[in-house]
Amino acid sequence: MHEVSIAGAIVDAVLEAAKKNEAKKVNEVFIEIGELTALNPDQMRFIFETITSGTIAEGARYNIQVIRPLINCKKCSYNGPIEFFEKLHFILPAVRCPDCGDLDVDIIAGRDCSVKKIKIS
Ligand SMILES: [Zn+2]
Repeated sequence: MHEVSIAGAIVDAVLEAAKKNEAKKVNEVFIEIGELTALNPDQMRFIFETITSGTIAEGARYNIQVIRPLINCKKCSYNGPIEFFEKLHFILPAVRCPDCGDLDVDIIAGRDCSVKKIKIS
């Protein structure tokens, strides 16, 4: 499942960072989820809680922020947020420029899922 593999990679990164810093416990994890990833924050939180059981990140709090997509249109050079995207195509949503409607756009933000910060003790 999409969510589980991504959550697994994030937890690995968190545990590795915690280990490097000789943490005894991970208290809080700050995560950004791009809206275009179509990941469900509640579902992600649930998976994190499940797979960190028995690790030093067990019981950590998850601050999940959903990032709105930003695009750069190659045709009309529009630069900014998009109002609408096709949610039916979960893996690769069709992103259109809100100005000229073209599909030839660069996605600047909203496509990734990453750990921003962790709090350890
Ligand atoms: Zn455009």
